Amino acid sequence: SLGAMQDWSMRISHVIDHAAREAPDREIVTRWADGSETRTDWAGIRRDAKKMSQALQALGLGKGDKVASLAMNHARHLVSWFGVAGMGGVLHTCNPRLFEDQLEYIVNHAEDKVMIYDAAFQPIVDKMRDKWPTVKHYICFDSGEHTTSFEDWIGAQDGDFEWVDGDERDPCMICYTSGTTGNPKGVQYEHRSTLLHAMAGLQPAAFNFNASSVMLPVVPMFHAASWGLPYAGAMAGIKFVFSAVNDPAVLDEVMKTEGVTDSAGVPTVWLAHFQYCDANDLELPKLRAATIGGSAAPRFMIERLMKNGTRVQHAWGMTETSPIGTVGGPTGDWEQLTFDQKVEKTMKQGRPIFGVELRTVDLDDPSKVLPRDGESSGALHIRGPWVVKRYFKAEKDAIDAEGWFNTGDVAILHPDGTMQITDRTKDVIKSGGEWISSVELENAAVGHPAVAEAAAIGMMHPKWDERPVLFVVKQAGKDVTAEEVINFLSDKVAKWWLPDAVEFVDDIPHTATGKISKKDLRDRFSDYQLE
Ligand code: ADP
Repeated sequence: SLGAMQDWSMRISHVIDHAAREAPDREIVTRWADGSETRTDWAGIRRDAKKMSQALQALGLGKGDKVASLAMNHARHLVSWFGVAGMGGVLHTCNPRLFEDQLEYIVNHAEDKVMIYDAAFQPIVDKMRDKWPTVKHYICFDSGEHTTSFEDWIGAQDGDFEWVDGDERDPCMICYTSGTTGNPKGVQYEHRSTLLHAMAGLQPAAFNFNASSVMLPVVPMFHAASWGLPYAGAMAGIKFVFSAVNDPAVLDEVMKTEGVTDSAGVPTVWLAHFQYCDANDLELPKLRAATIGGSAAPRFMIERLMKNGTRVQHAWGMTETSPIGTVGGPTGDWEQLTFDQKVEKTMKQGRPIFGVELRTVDLDDPSKVLPRDGESSGALHIRGPWVVKRYFKAEKDAIDAEGWFNTGDVAILHPDGTMQITDRTKDVIKSGGEWISSVELENAAVGHPAVAEAAAIGMMHPKWDERPVLFVVKQAGKDVTAEEVINFLSDKVAKWWLPDAVEFVDDIPHTATGKISKKDLRDRFSDYQLE
């Protein structure tokens, strides 16, 4: 028979109820695109979320219906996270940087009924409207010139609303991968998976939130649920500072004026911040913690943040994993380590947080599970309650019989539990039957002061199968030759890893989530011949 504890279904409504009850007046600050600033608090977010739930019902929406957002980070977007889930709906956070055909595909595939968007994305909406037949209602987060404004829309409701109850495994959000190959794939997060993921996310081994945390998430709310920060932040009742623009000047200013202690973003965001501060002779903000993920954080970035007194939490995850898989941070032996050893450790991707399990298998023979010896690199598998089981509308599961999801990443597991990403299975370079990590080459190359960005891809070679070629964007105003880059790399990677050629380019293509797009780079250089 069962035990005798209370039933408490793991619904998202508990999260916002808790935040509004226990931290009602902790502030949620938004700096808008036009430079204006608004302030609300957790009680206000909950009040507006209730009104939004009512407003959605008034449009005829019900359980399981999908509501799309096309928006940057701000308090109204946050309201929609709780307002949609609170009426039993599913929020579909669309990435405005996707290509038109991808935006067309995902909205139709999800069958979104309502689209709520920032005025800045009016041109996208105008272009796409006819291609989105399932969308019956358009609402503008700002004061819409052509559309109902969000404030007016929810303002018509009284907020007297009981959250819609249901199964804790109901979906509450859907995120699509950016689809670097083929169509984007939808991952449906559940109330339960989201709640568990957020609880794991706020602990000291991850985001380390407490009541004095002031978080500015630079990672967009449309990028893998902003890494779950809004939910984890609500659980801990933290202060949020949002910026609806990703301009380093604005970010720097609000970080300093609002007392921001924590921030999170992909490496390019931190890079832009460094460049802004250097160009304007400003000090970096004195953050307590910086979470970097989405791509590997390069050494100089980690060093600079650590020297500034900031704890660097290098995190790895993907849309399919909600997204947190591993997070770096001080280990038990931290006090005994030298600065360089701390940096070395932080460059790896951290350790799995409770709830997820990792393993690596041989790249050529997936039935062979590899040892956690700090040397063997293989295909990274993950499983756990916030890892995808089946993509939305897919015909079969995305996991094997034992529940493992193949991440598409190549990694090394270390004896202390640390995971180190060495590449993506599609990008790893096979030379003479051995693997070369394109990521390690790139990371080493960006350590050169004249290198702004670098991407290594494998080019066909008559003898070795593939050999690495490094594409380099120079730092503005600096010069460097191919020989100098190779010389610089020669004591950082194995000799046989050294690129056969270094090519200087004006830019390197990026994906909609700001990562180097190797696929586009390969397409661009499809005629490239190694001499
Ligand atoms: P998309 O592929 O749609 O851009 P995701 O954010 O889901 O979006 O991408 C997940 C992938 O990003 C991972 O599989 C991994 O290759 C890469 N990644 C994420 N975090 C890190 C990290 N800290 N270091 C290296 N690679 C990372």
